[in-house]
Amino acid sequence: MGCNCLAWNQADVILWLTPIVLAGWVFAFGACVGSLLNVLVYRLPLGLDVVSPTSRCPSCETKLTWRENIPIFGWLMLRGRCRFCHSSISSEYPIVESFTALLWVAVWVVLYADNGRFLGIPVDVLRPEWASSGFRHTWPMFLAVLGLFSCLIAVTLIDARTFHIPMSLVIVPVILGLACHAGWAAFHGPLHPAPRGWEWSLPTPGVHGWQWVGMAVGGAAGLAISGALLRFGVIRRSFADYEQWLESHQKTPEAAPGEVAAGEQVGDSPEMWVQYPHARREMIRELVFLGPCIGLAMLGAALALRLAGPWTPDMLTGEMLPAADVPHWLSVLCGVLLGYLIGGGLVWAMRIFGSLAFGKEALGLGDVHLMAAVGACLGWIDATLGFFGAAFVGMVWAIVGKVASGKLQRHMPFGPYLAIATVLVWFTKPWIEQLINAVAKVSPQINLP
Ligand SMILES: [Zn+2]
Repeated sequence: MGCNCLAWNQADVILWLTPIVLAGWVFAFGACVGSLLNVLVYRLPLGLDVVSPTSRCPSCETKLTWRENIPIFGWLMLRGRCRFCHSSISSEYPIVESFTALLWVAVWVVLYADNGRFLGIPVDVLRPEWASSGFRHTWPMFLAVLGLFSCLIAVTLIDARTFHIPMSLVIVPVILGLACHAGWAAFHGPLHPAPRGWEWSLPTPGVHGWQWVGMAVGGAAGLAISGALLRFGVIRRSFADYEQWLESHQKTPEAAPGEVAAGEQVGDSPEMWVQYPHARREMIRELVFLGPCIGLAMLGAALALRLAGPWTPDMLTGEMLPAADVPHWLSVLCGVLLGYLIGGGLVWAMRIFGSLAFGKEALGLGDVHLMAAVGACLGWIDATLGFFGAAFVGMVWAIVGKVASGKLQRHMPFGPYLAIATVLVWFTKPWIEQLINAVAKVSPQINLP
């Protein structure tokens, strides 16, 4: 009896310890990435090399030892002061590291905690369908989510301070999305079990969605063409004369251009951006850039529908079926492309309409790239929800700010709101779906293309 009892206890302890140990590993990896984010947040806006030199005290340049480089604990060990010159080290470093680590753990718990519970808390209400295939089959998608969220943290901090979103931080998630989704689909094939239309962690055109395939491929080709035309100078970059205009309207005439310190552009501020008088004209330029993308997307959809034919009705359901199904890898690839195009396209449309309406630059191209990256990693639905959610996040932020400090902040970049809304949408999507369905009173699930 006693022996049995002991065996049970051990099994219990192992059962109880396993998720904690795994979560600890995820936490450790997340903290290390958080440490890297600190480096990026500090160095990217200054245009410094992100790889070398190794971390050192910003005041006296003393190199950190490997112990002091350990995320979170290094800072705690030093009690927030440099070992050498005793100048204080910002608490932002351990905060960013802890936050990143906790976010990683939260994503892992929602996706993979055993039996849908973590330390007794039910988490499977938030678990998306695709995670049911298990870690072994879905780890690339897990990686795409973590990579995107990590970049969003860095984007939030940099954009809030500098009003600029570094390109590298919005290109990395796109590469991740392509590799983790399309690459894994080509390598692994379809996942089972998988409800139809949800066979991947982002919405895809599905087996019969040839028009969406044509639209995605056509739109991407159009963007590539416009990009090439821009590079070879056939079409002009929008806001190309902004610098020139800025120089002639500099608020601080005493600062000669040569005296402006690196990374500190005097006068280049949101206050100046909204004063730039040619925003409407520049939007026409951006519409020209988007022309091939929109045109080829429409052409692609029509062509693909025709090429996939002849379409014949299904014997049982009467649904029109193409001559051939969309291959799985192509379906997932187009899911990534559609996410990219729709995520970016929504912000860009808002930017163009807003700028045309008010005659001032509304939303930045950085925001366009940001939501395109979100779409590439999470698909068009999350990107769309994140975009509209950002307005709410911004509103809440403004109200909280007003209550807390008694005044409204005049200019706040939109990137942080987009980033925060995207993460919130990812964690609360089942509730958002319920809400949308309750409002629309349609079928119990949102039907995807
Ligand atoms: Zn120091």
